Amino acid sequence: MQYISTRGGIDPVSFTEAVLMGLATDGGLILPRTIPRIGSDTYTEWKDLSYQELAFEVMSRFIDDIPEAELRDIISRSYSSFDCKEVAPLVHHGSLHIMELFHGPTLAFKDVALQFLGNIFEYLLEKNNSVMNILGATSGDTGSAAIYGVRGKERINIFILHPHGRVSKVQEQQMTTVTDSNVFNIAIRGTFDDAQAIVKSIFNDLDFKGTQHLGAINSINWARVLAQVVYYVHACLHISSHENDKTVDFSVPTGNFGDIFAGYIAKRMLPEGTVRKLLLATNSNDILSRMVQQGDYSLSEVVPTSSPSMDIQSASNFERYLYYLHDEEPGRTNQTMIQFAETGTINLSSFQDHIQRDFVAEKATESDVTNCIAEFYKEYGYILDPHTAVGVHCALKHQSKGVPICCLSTAHPGKFGDTVEDAIDKLIDLPRSMRNLADKESRCELMDADRNLIQEFVKNHAKQG
Ligand SMILES: *Cc1c(COP(=O)(O)O)cnc(C)c1O
Repeated sequence: MQYISTRGGIDPVSFTEAVLMGLATDGGLILPRTIPRIGSDTYTEWKDLSYQELAFEVMSRFIDDIPEAELRDIISRSYSSFDCKEVAPLVHHGSLHIMELFHGPTLAFKDVALQFLGNIFEYLLEKNNSVMNILGATSGDTGSAAIYGVRGKERINIFILHPHGRVSKVQEQQMTTVTDSNVFNIAIRGTFDDAQAIVKSIFNDLDFKGTQHLGAINSINWARVLAQVVYYVHACLHISSHENDKTVDFSVPTGNFGDIFAGYIAKRMLPEGTVRKLLLATNSNDILSRMVQQGDYSLSEVVPTSSPSMDIQSASNFERYLYYLHDEEPGRTNQTMIQFAETGTINLSSFQDHIQRDFVAEKATESDVTNCIAEFYKEYGYILDPHTAVGVHCALKHQSKGVPICCLSTAHPGKFGDTVEDAIDKLIDLPRSMRNLADKESRCELMDADRNLIQEFVKNHAKQG
């Protein structure tokens, strides 16, 4: 399988080259040259596979430069850290299927991709006899999932900046209680934007980036999308055996468009009609639901909500979908992205029919979210986290008669305890891994938001190749 850039400026690369490249060197995003199709016979044969076996079948359609035994081993190790055998179990309440994606070490769905990515990096660095220093900024969730993805790995150090005192206590503790010697948490005196600006500026020092083997672990890495394709297939197989129905809709709480884009790939891979519609669910930061409903993709201010991992305006994976909207023509995609960078807006109204073949969209306000958590608990005794509640609210509003809908549950409710406990008026039980965080040893550097100081710190603690 060859990989190309949405902007057409790179020679085709292999899967492992694509993973190491992250963002394409022409500034575009990496995609497979073609999306493999799965015939109905093959699809039917997959129904009794374990999650890990299914992951191998799906991923091996996209990966031809890692030997089978090694790929199976990477997959198996990536999901042995999950606290349940099914990895992504489905539960059924009322008319909804809910797929729980929060059984990984940090209790959010980002573990599904980052446990895999960490192991792929480790495998490639070993093979190339090389090292990597991962540098990133986080406003909360991605940081801990990234740290858990690479903790203890011999050829990788990770430096994660977070804004001091501006992430939740649980999020801070999940990061700082990882005391492996390759993990460096840096709390900066400043905001998330300050942290991100520092990281960007250090990456822009190309000489430093090269000599220190800097790597990123953000949501644009193709390996992350690929790992997420697997659970859509898993859900389709599960639901079609449960319902005797071959068609499924998905409701996806969306921020950076990574998760729902994986659903789009799954939709194109699987036999026609297996995935019917992808319901794009947003909170009050609704740029993407406006795009689907009205063809209007324009930036506005980010407003903070109770589902902070979706408080995003410029969705980093959206360019991948734009490429398909533009009939896989990099020239046109590039032009649209240049226009967006200049004006902060793209008019997609002429693509409306095309977009609505694949997607529908809905938005949940803050009161929709708390009402949904409260009512779902009253009705079924099941507790939703605020991100999942955005998707469930939208699903209940948009459900089509006769088509099963699967809501992706992206975080454990205990991670967002304050909002959830207010909504259900009851304290919730935390999973064991979260109960004793406060008593654990922790390690973190507190630093001024000074780019040069931080670059110096990274240099002094970087793994040397
Ligand atoms: C990251 C995240 C999302 C949004 O996923 P995208 O791939 O960015 O659209 C939703 N819920 C939770 C809990 C997340 O951490």
